[in-house]
Amino acid sequence: QGKRAFNFNAGPAALPLAVLERAQAEFVDFRGNGMSIMEMSHRGGVYEAVHQEAKELLKELFNVPAGYDVLFLQGGASSQFAMIPMNLLQPGKVAAYVDTGSWAKKAIKEAQLIGETAVIASSEAEHYTRMPSLEDIQVPAEAAYVHLTSNETIEGTQFQAFPNTGDVPLIVDMSSDILSRPLDISQFGMIYAGAQKNLGPSGVTVVIAKEELLAASPNTIPTMLRYDIHQKNNSLYNTPPSFSIYMVNQVLHWLKEQGGLQAVQEHNEEKANLIYDAIDSSQGFYRGVAVPENRSRMNVTFRLTSEDLEKSFIKQAEQEGFVGLKGHRSVGGLRASIYNAVPKSSCEALVQFMKQFQQQNS
Ligand code: PMP
Repeated sequence: QGKRAFNFNAGPAALPLAVLERAQAEFVDFRGNGMSIMEMSHRGGVYEAVHQEAKELLKELFNVPAGYDVLFLQGGASSQFAMIPMNLLQPGKVAAYVDTGSWAKKAIKEAQLIGETAVIASSEAEHYTRMPSLEDIQVPAEAAYVHLTSNETIEGTQFQAFPNTGDVPLIVDMSSDILSRPLDISQFGMIYAGAQKNLGPSGVTVVIAKEELLAASPNTIPTMLRYDIHQKNNSLYNTPPSFSIYMVNQVLHWLKEQGGLQAVQEHNEEKANLIYDAIDSSQGFYRGVAVPENRSRMNVTFRLTSEDLEKSFIKQAEQEGFVGLKGHRSVGGLRASIYNAVPKSSCEALVQFMKQFQQQNS
């Protein structure tokens, strides 16, 4: 086995080594079936058991209440940006969005193509260094739903609590922090996430929603874009991304073995604190992008005092086996993505490198 990198990729991102090894062991001959899971029918019992178990594990781990269902869809979280208003924005109503940064903006843009859309709160004036405060999120009476992004992957900001939207469904893009902490799912109408950060490889998008929302699709939109069709068919209306769903199943088993979401959250906080402490104790050599109360525990964004220094940080880090530390091309700077599967030892190694780099350059 080759050496594993210190992987801080933003997504696709690090997967648990134990999961990769298990997949490797089962790759050619899946549990004595004489073929890979990728080579068998999605209508057969062997695949269906994996599919069903993934759904059940997700419900169990996330403590999903009765009356909610789980869908496995394709097209990434980006397709959800369009499917949400297509399915849930009724005529005469308005789609209400909280503008928290790059991903929220993309969701808003898609909704505007579909129907009446309102931005009800925004932190753009603060360059998305913070989340809008919950008191500033006022729900209009005619809202079909309120949409927000729990964790802005590019800016490195995260909501630590969610607004109470009353009877109006709260829909949350959790692509970059799903299953990173326990949450009360009953406060949400729907949550969704592309798998490739906290859940598995790319190729599958998880939707968890109230059954009544999933049932509300108009019959005027294309079949594949209708939540009700996917729900009625248990996400087997057409061929699902079976290998990705199998990998999600494995990751969910692994999360359970870690002790569930409470333990996962504690581990994630320890990891994030290590890096934020290194930033805060650097006497201005490193500077965190997000305000402390909205710092993401998944994507730690920070800057150095000049772009040249940032370039040399990235270059030297790469030479020492650190991958993925360059900030998103739209904002620059540095970013360490530390999703569930990134081990604490990688964060410790990064902190050591940061201290060493500071010593050499100040
Ligand atoms: N929302 C958020 C918060 C994301 O981080 C991403 C991916 N980086 C997306 C949406 C888009 O996801 P996908 O690539 O699965 O369409």
